[in-house]
Amino acid sequence: MDGTPFRYWDHQLFCDDADLTDIAGAAGTPAYVYSRQGIVKRFEAYDLALAGIEHRVCYAVKANSNLSILRVLAEAGAGFDIVSGGELFRVIRAGGDPARVVFAGVGKTRDEIEYALESGIHGFNCESEAEIALIDALAGRLGKKASISVRVNPDVDAATHPYISTGLRDHKFGIDIEQVEGVYQRAATLPNLKVEGVACHIGSQLLDPAPLQEASGKLLALALRLRTGGVPIRYLDLGGGWGVPYRFDDPRADLASHLGAIRAMVEGQGFTLFFEPGRSIVAECGVLLSRVLYRKTTPRKEFIVLDAAMNDLIRPALYDAHHEILPLRQPARGTIRADIVGPVCETGDFLALDREIPELFPGDLVAVMTAGAYGSVMASNYNSRPRPAEILVEGKTWRTVRARETFTDLVRGE
Ligand SMILES: *Cc1c(COP(=O)(O)O)cnc(C)c1O
Repeated sequence: MDGTPFRYWDHQLFCDDADLTDIAGAAGTPAYVYSRQGIVKRFEAYDLALAGIEHRVCYAVKANSNLSILRVLAEAGAGFDIVSGGELFRVIRAGGDPARVVFAGVGKTRDEIEYALESGIHGFNCESEAEIALIDALAGRLGKKASISVRVNPDVDAATHPYISTGLRDHKFGIDIEQVEGVYQRAATLPNLKVEGVACHIGSQLLDPAPLQEASGKLLALALRLRTGGVPIRYLDLGGGWGVPYRFDDPRADLASHLGAIRAMVEGQGFTLFFEPGRSIVAECGVLLSRVLYRKTTPRKEFIVLDAAMNDLIRPALYDAHHEILPLRQPARGTIRADIVGPVCETGDFLALDREIPELFPGDLVAVMTAGAYGSVMASNYNSRPRPAEILVEGKTWRTVRARETFTDLVRGE
């Protein structure tokens, strides 16, 4: 957990200067806990590495869309990358500046496009010609000029989990780089558009900078060709996707040197660089706190049953993701090997399989680490389980930034 806001202090696990055992006692479990300072620090790392070149860091809201986290990032100067009208609503609610919002996604609806135009967002990252035509028509009706970029599919293998790889020719995302120049030429003739950017996003949890740099090189070459062809490209949006070490012994790739390489590639050519990081801003700044309910032994296996389940954190079930699990009180005990599971009625309901872990007993508290991204946002009410509370730590104080759901919340609207 080096380089994260979490560490043991006198055998107790802390988030910054707040004792997680105190938080679990007061707020109950399961609960997500985030470090404000950690989030700001990670955002600033992007900003710092790009200082001196025109840039905008647009936090990808889908990674964690809690209003308080959006507010923290808005105050730090972030823009936002959204994929729905609901995310735009959240950004505005949190005090984010719509003029710093880019709107991505393959299936933007008419209502969402109108809402975005009326809100005055920076621009749309478009994924099909039909979408470009619709944006042009709606902008015309509203008397606006819409800034667009085309999301290019650069046909680069991001070498990550197939569900979060997005930049290969067979994926639904973007427009094929071989076909995109014609799309730009046609879009440039539409009256209500400013065609001024190229964009890509090749996948998530990328631990090797090489595919990102390959895609960036292809995008830059495309932007220069388009300029020569008379399309005045000003914006290069290189997407998000930077990975984090989910295993504590995984190496940490150097973000600053990666950004430095990209910067060297594009510097002095009059582009404003956009990045859309999500996971790398919030993943390591959050944990899911949970309490051990039971231990159970079958003839073949040992199980530790937690009060957190796949409905709270689906990444292990969905992506085979690894999350380290730490006891809040550092034990003097030995280790056992067990499956760490939740109460949901699915065999896929596990947080860790066949994991060596310090011996735990009912009542013990644990933290599921690196859960700040794609955790709470993917939580559901499956098995009619209220979604967890969310807590934001600032120094040694903390506050609830989303109340634990109640049974009444579960049936609202039915
Ligand atoms: C999900 C997404 C991101 C953020 O990806 P991370 O891996 O969380 O950095 C950025 N841009 C687009 C278009 C996305 O869909």
